[in-house]
Amino acid sequence: MVKFLDIQKITQKYENEIHHSISRIVDSGWYLLGEETAEFEKNYALFIGTEHCIGVANGLDALRIILRAYMEMGAMKEGDEIIVPANTFIASIIAITDNRLVPVLIEPCLTTYQIDDEKIEEAITPRTKGIMVVHLYGRCGYTDKIALLCRKYNLKLIEDNAQAAGCKYHGKTTGSLGDAAGHSFYPGKNLGALGDGGAITTNDRCLAEKARSLGNYGSVRKYIFDYQGYNSRLDEIQAAVLNVKLNHLESDNERRKEVARHYLDRITQPEVILPEVNDWNAHVFHLFVIRTPKRDEMLRFLNDHGVQALVHYPVPPHRQKAYKELNHLHLPVTEKIHKEVLSLPISPVVTDEEVEMVVRVVNSFCSQN
Ligand SMILES: *Cc1c(COP(=O)(O)O)cnc(C)c1O
Repeated sequence: MVKFLDIQKITQKYENEIHHSISRIVDSGWYLLGEETAEFEKNYALFIGTEHCIGVANGLDALRIILRAYMEMGAMKEGDEIIVPANTFIASIIAITDNRLVPVLIEPCLTTYQIDDEKIEEAITPRTKGIMVVHLYGRCGYTDKIALLCRKYNLKLIEDNAQAAGCKYHGKTTGSLGDAAGHSFYPGKNLGALGDGGAITTNDRCLAEKARSLGNYGSVRKYIFDYQGYNSRLDEIQAAVLNVKLNHLESDNERRKEVARHYLDRITQPEVILPEVNDWNAHVFHLFVIRTPKRDEMLRFLNDHGVQALVHYPVPPHRQKAYKELNHLHLPVTEKIHKEVLSLPISPVVTDEEVEMVVRVVNSFCSQN
């Protein structure tokens, strides 16, 4: 069986370093808001290319706190609109609605699966205060056109970088392209902790200060609270793990790209639509997503023939029970994507033999039909 993602194997790759780092924290007796988190924040800010990095509890909190900080700064208020791709993971939308902001769902491009920048301007109203770009599947969703629209209409550009750690756009790392970015270190992400973790990156000092305070109950100094904040902190053990794994992120991403190149070269069935890559720096292949009208059949066939494939995601946010107020929306591109996509196994630890087997099974499904 080719596993979709063997997280145990990824951890084993760095086992000695990780054990060593964790023991150091266990022995230190200091588990929150300590040197290891400060060290990671410094390292990750340097890696992303921003002035500030604030560790938080998870990726959802990172996005939620960015928006809340903008509300505290007076840049947005309840009822204001945030533009977001309709085909994102639901957390991007929850971060918006949890702040009583209104998500305005925009269709993606069918070729890139990223927000269609041709459809943004017509959706901008006087209440629009921000655009949340999601680098979905690890592919850069930012475009110069989006940045121009933000400047023209005075909108905050927020990046959801949960799936794209290490992705680059013309030499700049995603997470440094907009006004602020949310990052997730969920174990399955390209930079994964051994539990939950997240971070905010920004060059805006005011936002950074507010975000740090909001993650710590709204505290500005010990026992002085300016906001009704959250408890959202990256803990020392996860920071220690991330300090180890950050050193290997670029080589891990290179291996993902190598696997992606194999798939792109070897999967030959014309009915399978392969992901389009026009800049190998601008995709870190968090997921390798193919598309076919026979998706459900193919999913069954792969799973029956020893290849664990998954769907990201089967139901779009606007069709979920959680968002009844969005259920009436008609978003044909998004709906088509959710019906037709399929994710093949990809990770830094899949072997060449496993990749070959996936290719063989995918191609053989097609030749039977
Ligand atoms: C994983 C993910 C999140 C949320 O991150 P968590 O750490 O799981 O809270 C947000 N947005 C996208 C696109 C994600 O893939």
